[in-house]
Amino acid sequence: MRYIEKNNPPEYLLAWKNKQKQAGCNLLYNDFPYKERLNNDLRKEQHCICCYCQRKMDHFQGDLVRGSHNEHLYPENIPGDQLSHDLQVEYSNIYACCIDSRGCEKRLQYCGEIKSNNKIPHLIQDPECSNYFRYNILGEIIPNGFYGTWEDYMNNEKELEGSLYEAFLCIKMLNLNCITLKLYRYQILQSFITVISQWTADKLDSYISSYERAAEYQELINMKLQYMRQRYHILTK
Ligand SMILES: [Zn+2]
Repeated sequence: MRYIEKNNPPEYLLAWKNKQKQAGCNLLYNDFPYKERLNNDLRKEQHCICCYCQRKMDHFQGDLVRGSHNEHLYPENIPGDQLSHDLQVEYSNIYACCIDSRGCEKRLQYCGEIKSNNKIPHLIQDPECSNYFRYNILGEIIPNGFYGTWEDYMNNEKELEGSLYEAFLCIKMLNLNCITLKLYRYQILQSFITVISQWTADKLDSYISSYERAAEYQELINMKLQYMRQRYHILTK
C-alpha cells in the first residue's frame, strides 16, 4: 500500500456540485452522472493500480478482471452518519479500487469488495504510508515491524500499537492476505527475484528510479521496489 497524492477536484465534479446546491438538492454519489469519467481520472491519478492491493486496473466496472469501481475511503452508506453523507462526492475521499474478487465467497474477497461499510485507517492519505508495510518471501503483506509472517501478527494482535496496528487493521479488514492474493504475489515475487539477481547495482538503481517515475506503475510496485532496494543494498554495502 502506498500514499496516493490527490490532484485538485476535476471541474465537471465541482460544476455538478454547484448546480445541485443551487437547485437545493442533496449531494449524493448515486445522482452523480459522470462516474466513469471520474473513474478514468482516478485510475490515471493512481498510475493505474488499485489503491489497496496494487493490482492493475484498466477500465470502469464491466469485466471483473482489471475492472475497478469508485471507492469511498470513508464509507458512503452508513445510515445516520453525517460524515458518510458529507463525503459522498468529496474528491479527496474517492479512489479507484479493483473489483477482481466481486462475487467470490467472503474468504476470497478483498479490497473494496470486502471492506463494504467498514472504516479502515486512512493510511493511503499518509505520505509515509509505504513505510508501514513490507512483503515477506511467502507473498504476504505484513506491518513493517518485528514479526515475519502474517500468522505471527494475527497471534500477537494485542501487542500492536500506533502505525503497526493501523497497518495490521488495513491488511486484515481488506483481506490482503487471502489465499488468491498471497499466491499471486508469491508467484510474481519468485520470478522477479530470479530476474533481479542477475542485475548490477547500476541497473537496479536505474530501474528503481524509472519504476517510481512511471505514469503507469508496475503491478505490485511496492513489493518490487522493496526487493530491488534490498538487492541494491547487498551489492553496494
Ligand atoms: Zn485491490
